[in-house]
Amino acid sequence: MPESNDAPPRASGQCLCGAVRYEVRGPLRPVIACHCTECRRFSGGIWTATAARREHLTIHGEENVRWYAYSDRARRGFCSTCGASLFFSAPAMPHMAIAAGTLNKPTGLKLAVHIFTAEAGDYYLLTDDLPKITDGQHGLSIPEDRV
Ligand SMILES: [Zn+2]
Ligand SMILES: [Zn+2]
Repeated sequence: MPESNDAPPRASGQCLCGAVRYEVRGPLRPVIACHCTECRRFSGGIWTATAARREHLTIHGEENVRWYAYSDRARRGFCSTCGASLFFSAPAMPHMAIAAGTLNKPTGLKLAVHIFTAEAGDYYLLTDDLPKITDGQHGLSIPEDRV
């Protein structure tokens, strides 16, 4: 078990039914909203995610996480009981993306950027002032918060 697990959690969260709970002991990435088709189908809407280094993330009930690999580049984790979209992981990423909607409040986080806006759903408008990247990149690295 990593030493960092003795520290109080920076954040915690869970799926809808509570079979999967998690804690993060380390910095979190600002939230990214991904509008790509794959993320929309996985999440049922706009995929908003923070991210944490894998060694800072403790998952309780990990046996209840089912992983789905849409491609060989990434896999997506969801609760096998309630179906909640929880995680996004790619071999090239040193961190795990965590669905922002599953975090317990207050998160202390802010939405920072929209990506893959060219694939956005046609039933909503992006009217905020945040940067909008038409294609983008999953696992985007942007500065983590300071705890
Ligand atoms: Zn669940
Ligand atoms: Zn996406």
